[in-house]
Amino acid sequence: MSAANAWTVPAVREALEAKKLSARELTAEFYSRIERKNPELNAVLALSPERAYAQADRIDKLRARNEKLPPLAGVPVAIKDVISTRGIRTTCGSRILENYVPPYDATAVEKLESAGAVILGKTNCDEFAMGSSNENSAYGPVRNPVATDRVPGGSSGGSAAAVAAGLAVAALGTDTGGSIRQPGAFCGIPAMMPTYGRVSRYGLIAFASSLDRIGPFATTVRDAAAVLSVIEGHDTNDSTSAAVPASDYFEEMEKPIRGMRIGIPVEYFGEGMDPEVRAKIEAGIELMKQIGCQPVELRMPHTEYAIATYYIVATAEASSNLARFDGVRYGLRVHAGSLREMYKKTRGRGFGAEVKRRIMLGTYALSSGYYDAYYLRAQKVRTLIARDFILAFEKVDAIVTPTSPTTAFRLGERTMNPLAMYLADIYTVTGSLAGIPGISVPCGTTSDGLPVGLQIFGPRFAESRVLQLAHAFEKANGFLI
Ligand code: GLN
Repeated sequence: MSAANAWTVPAVREALEAKKLSARELTAEFYSRIERKNPELNAVLALSPERAYAQADRIDKLRARNEKLPPLAGVPVAIKDVISTRGIRTTCGSRILENYVPPYDATAVEKLESAGAVILGKTNCDEFAMGSSNENSAYGPVRNPVATDRVPGGSSGGSAAAVAAGLAVAALGTDTGGSIRQPGAFCGIPAMMPTYGRVSRYGLIAFASSLDRIGPFATTVRDAAAVLSVIEGHDTNDSTSAAVPASDYFEEMEKPIRGMRIGIPVEYFGEGMDPEVRAKIEAGIELMKQIGCQPVELRMPHTEYAIATYYIVATAEASSNLARFDGVRYGLRVHAGSLREMYKKTRGRGFGAEVKRRIMLGTYALSSGYYDAYYLRAQKVRTLIARDFILAFEKVDAIVTPTSPTTAFRLGERTMNPLAMYLADIYTVTGSLAGIPGISVPCGTTSDGLPVGLQIFGPRFAESRVLQLAHAFEKANGFLI
């Protein structure tokens, strides 16, 4: 871990408590890092210094009075640009929302701030979170800080790059089909998708509502847990948020993992996987064995249909969610002679190519005559994929797979081939369709220095088990700072 990334949640707390520096100074340090590195990385879009310094001063006042600090006091964080922030421009990486400033905060943002976090600004992402490389942003691609000729992954590429480059201690991303885990893997940091319902999506600008989730990026598994424990919980503003009691992740995380049964599904080690990635994941599984886990070979027969299923369900939901961007209520309006022309011109100019492609695919899948053949069938297969997991978790405690079949690819390498881009999600969409929690943790680097991510899935609401295994693996692997 390079010196640039040395700040963690406990390190911030220790420095603030020991009066080594103030929250204001720490905030200034992160803004100067952004100023230095962001012109090359393009990871961060709007900045919110006024709000950040006001929050830092609040924390410094608590320190001056020797009051107890909240759990994320002074921790500089960045927020993916599909998550609403009061008074801070929120574009979704799209021209159609170029000048949109939300009048309210997403619940996750509000919770972070109440826990003392300092919100530095918004991170770049694929337009409306559609993509696997961050090249679909209307505000330019993000570069991977590990190798700047490579993509950071997507769609939460800006959040992953910002944390990996030390521009924020933690960040929020969203995961619909892999958008937290895959960029986490490409940039070499832990990145977690919580169970569907664990974190409120109030204020998240929807892509595919039955799949979208908010989750953390951090430089350690403990820090990811620290952020998750702040943002999770039932919210009356989000009817899909679940009323499950929170568990103490920190206590659970330290429990021994000896005897844990880890499922290794053969379907996740098939064709199209980079041999070096395979070797790293196999070494990772070996390491898990050494620390007391028992690998169990699994079969999850519906895995092969996951990409097709995901791209029907996600595009269908997107076509309906994105209907609201019509030039009437928010964002861009291109004036024209008639209302119909105004809709057409606004949407034609406001959306990028991938978003248009998804709207068309989704509208087609939902249209009468095709609904049964595509959407209804996809819903049925989704149930079968979820059942593969339910059956697997009768035999094992967790499932271990690669996060992505390859390491970070070069900028421009896949932009002309949407199918090749969609295949980047082959190991992540299954967990998305099943609603279960998953984390990507660093699992070494290939010979050209590119990070490999190992994915751990657990049963619904078993975040503590996922974090426990991820933390033990991180420790054994020497990633603990
Ligand atoms: N890459 C996938 C897609 O393009 C996943 C995106 C996401 O999780 N938001 O749909």
